[in-house]
Amino acid sequence: MSVIEALRDDNFLEQVPRAGTNHPATLELFDRIGLYARIAPRGIIAPLFHYWDRREQKRIAEFDHVHLKDDTRFPYVLQCERIKIVEEALKLAKAHPHINVRLGMTFISFEQGADGVTAFATNPAGETEAFRGAYLVSCEGARSIVRKDLGIGFEGFTYPDRTLNIEVAYDFRKNGYTERNYISDPDEWSNLFHWKGPPDRWRIHFPTEAHEDEEALTREDALQARLQRFLPIGKPFEIVGTNLYVVHQRVAQKFRVGRTILAGDSAHVNSPIGAMGMNSGVHDAFNLADKLVRILRGEADGEVLDRYERQRRHVAVQHTQAQTIRNKRLLAEKDPAVRQKNNDELRRTAEDPKLARAFLLRSSLIASLREAEQIA
Ligand SMILES: Cc1cc2nc3c(=O)[nH]c(=O)nc-3n(C[C@H](O)[C@H](O)[C@H](O)COP(=O)(O)OP(=O)(O)OC[C@H]3O[C@@H](n4cnc5c(N)ncnc54)[C@H](O)[C@@H]3O)c2cc1C
Repeated sequence: MSVIEALRDDNFLEQVPRAGTNHPATLELFDRIGLYARIAPRGIIAPLFHYWDRREQKRIAEFDHVHLKDDTRFPYVLQCERIKIVEEALKLAKAHPHINVRLGMTFISFEQGADGVTAFATNPAGETEAFRGAYLVSCEGARSIVRKDLGIGFEGFTYPDRTLNIEVAYDFRKNGYTERNYISDPDEWSNLFHWKGPPDRWRIHFPTEAHEDEEALTREDALQARLQRFLPIGKPFEIVGTNLYVVHQRVAQKFRVGRTILAGDSAHVNSPIGAMGMNSGVHDAFNLADKLVRILRGEADGEVLDRYERQRRHVAVQHTQAQTIRNKRLLAEKDPAVRQKNNDELRRTAEDPKLARAFLLRSSLIASLREAEQIA
């Protein structure tokens, strides 16, 4: 197997901070390939998450993954930045005798026929190299060349507002928060998460208006003012980073055409509220890898890849899209009566062990994996 990646050894870790909350179902998969033991010491084990109401300055509900102790060996999430996961996964891939890792190679096009696929990529010297294989898996992110070349629609929508991410060195646990917090507010909802780094830091997300100027939004005084409105601490916050990003909710019409298959953000993108994008991409990869291995061993034929599409597209539409859209609506809700109802429901769910378990099975992606297994 060949892995083609445009980044090189010298800039592989210079990626924008993104995913990092690893749900129990994903930790089980990582454990299967020896990746969990490598990333666990580099992350934070977080059994709890909170819902807060900023208007009321109150914690609404605390969810504890302990309710999943009979469902998983990992009744917690691991807060471990994507950059560390890919770094450790890359070491495993490089050490594997059957994986040919080619960094610094930019994939440009492909051709497929009845017997195989040829991918073309440019090497660091500017030459085009051809890679011949039985299948091509597009894991090139949301801007996938493969998806566009195949003319596969990317159905859904893009939110008009952008999300502002601010990274601060301040321990929010002093103020009652836990490692992961979802904070609703009719004017300015937030997510607040703890990351080990280094440096140890907390990432806080705020919505911004579509027309606001990026330079004005990310100026130090504007960031400080926003943070102090969120939590006045009587001194400036130590800001260690910031970025602004656009959020899409889209799913590819098809996950497979012939011998070419889409996985991860190439197949589906969603808001980070709920931490599902990378996790579901990892689930795609394990599902697909199992099927490709069976095909290559002669234990299954190509039709089994249709099941990959049925299973993973179902999860993308019915679980990931539905939940992430709902999560954002919940945090941004403006109607006071609906907000009250939502808060009451969250409180009731967190306090009832049966309801809490059902809620956690969905939020931790265990329910979606179990449901996908039932799809023929
Ligand atoms: C702020 C933020 C926070 C997030 N938090 C979470 C979270 O906590 N949990 C979660 O599950 N998800 C989260 N997500 C979503 C998550 O980051 C993505 O779903 C995930 O990174 C997708 O992985 P991917 O490998 O499919 O695509 P990508 O991460 O986009 O990786 C694509 C790779 O392909 C390479 N590539 C692209 N084009 C080419 C080419 N032509 N040739 C060669 N190589 C190429 C790129 O260099 C890159 O390495 C978050 C997203 C954002 C924006």
